[in-house]
Amino acid sequence: MNKKQMISVDKALAIVLDSIKETSAEKVPFLESAGRILCQDIVSTLNIPPVDNSAMDGYAVTQESIRGASDEQPVVLPVQGEIQAGSLYSGKVLDGSFAVGIMTGAPVPPGADAVIPVEYTKEDGNNVKIFKSLNRGDNIRRKGEDIAQGQVVLKKGRTLRSADVGLLASLNITDVMVYRRPHVAIIPTGNELVEPGDEIENGQIRNSNAYTLFAEITKCNAVPHYMGIARDDFEETREKFRKAFENDIVITTGGVSMGKYDFVKDVMADLGIDIKVEKLLMKPGKPFVFGIKSDKLFFGLPGNPVSTMVSFIQFVRPAIRRLMGARELQKPVVHATLQQDITKKTERRHFVRGYLTIQDEEFFVSTTGPQGSGILTSMSDANCLIILPEGRTMCRAGEKVSIQLIYHEELE
Ligand code: AMP
Ligand code: MG
Repeated sequence: MNKKQMISVDKALAIVLDSIKETSAEKVPFLESAGRILCQDIVSTLNIPPVDNSAMDGYAVTQESIRGASDEQPVVLPVQGEIQAGSLYSGKVLDGSFAVGIMTGAPVPPGADAVIPVEYTKEDGNNVKIFKSLNRGDNIRRKGEDIAQGQVVLKKGRTLRSADVGLLASLNITDVMVYRRPHVAIIPTGNELVEPGDEIENGQIRNSNAYTLFAEITKCNAVPHYMGIARDDFEETREKFRKAFENDIVITTGGVSMGKYDFVKDVMADLGIDIKVEKLLMKPGKPFVFGIKSDKLFFGLPGNPVSTMVSFIQFVRPAIRRLMGARELQKPVVHATLQQDITKKTERRHFVRGYLTIQDEEFFVSTTGPQGSGILTSMSDANCLIILPEGRTMCRAGEKVSIQLIYHEELE
């Protein structure tokens, strides 16, 4: 490959993903499994519910015995006993000559094939008046209707959700095999950088990238390790990189452009990191480098704060997810109606910071303002990235555009 050639976002992503092998597995208690990625199929050894049980508070009956019941002509049946949730029935098999009181979740007694809800009945001494007929099976939850014995309930590669943790509890599975959380080192580079809290002099800037990345990595459920700033010095940068390779992934920011003090690629070469991608047909985020050394991944992200974050979302996040064995890797892309004209000044794919709104259940999107790659406020305001494809020069208000959802919890 001609390493100087700029390549498309899609091609770069394919190269990155193709070079990743899944990490190893570990056993965790089910209570700590939310957000982790399953490394096994979960197969049920049980039926859930374990027995036929009532979906309502009411009376267990035979459907036949209350046929034709109505407000005008109720059917009257003697009541023989009551079954609570969690208790067992020890009475006679229902033969249509009587009803049995039953609570929601209680096992349906033998012979009964329907449950009449209490609101369609009236107690009358030892009898019950029933004002409605039923179909066979009404208000009965069948044994195994949620989960049948032998069924694959959760598949390998699934990101476990709250309901899944509940399912594990129902299945009496107290430990699960999940993929190990990748360890990710963060190294911002640059002589101009000062840490938050430290004295700052004229011409210096605060290091924000390390912290944006720290938060993003945490959100991915990987483990961030902040290694501190690498000054624009070959030896210092090399030492930091070498140490960082104890982790699964190393991310640096800055120092990948053509400047005299951009040492990242030189150090990579010196450390024997095989550079697979260099420079992208993408805006923001053209300066970018991806390399591998044995099974360790190295991402040299651009220094500008928005470029850092956009490249993280496009490449590093999917890479972390692939490493963690996830099936779904990318943030979802949907269509939305553009609410303003956007002039595209580049041939490259342009990710424009956007704000998605929902009006009458339809998606609309506008930009969040100035799009300079150093303007982090417009990234902070964004809940999506508007994807302006290669080859387009202009997108008009009213057009449908593709947007990538980057923050799609509750919309403000
Ligand atoms: P570079 O590619 O190293 O020339 O970085 C490009 C620009 O990104 C620099 O001029 C800085 O303004 C900015 N930058 C680099 N690193 C950081 C960082 N860690 N936090 C915030 N801004 C940064
Ligand atoms: Mg720099």
